Amino acid sequence: MNPIIFSVSKNKCPRCHQGDVFVHGHAFKKGFDKMHSHCSCCHLKYEKEPGFFYGAMYVSYALTVAIFVTVWVLNLWFLNLSTTGFITTVILSIIGLMTIVYRTARLVWLNFFVRYNKTMDVEVKS
Ligand SMILES: [Zn+2]
Repeated sequence: MNPIIFSVSKNKCPRCHQGDVFVHGHAFKKGFDKMHSHCSCCHLKYEKEPGFFYGAMYVSYALTVAIFVTVWVLNLWFLNLSTTGFITTVILSIIGLMTIVYRTARLVWLNFFVRYNKTMDVEVKS
């Protein structure tokens, strides 16, 4: 599996793929936004500088646009909703997937700056 897809989908440290980034493994739990400050295995500091995760808003924006386009295509091909129904569906989809978008955006942003280190994975396992 691609290392970035693995890290983002499994909530794992982008460098060693061992430690968790978020405290909870589930996006729909209270405290879904709580992050560990460092990786428990390789001690990578996740927030490199104050405000580091502000950049994740760009990823979040792209993911939200993807949700909008998905609902738009579904409406065009299958749902045939009225304008009000379409807007309501888009808003409910975005609100419903908000926690997943939040976490995914931060993990993707982190993976932009930290590469997977295969040798570190071996070092941590041994
Ligand atoms: Zn790590």
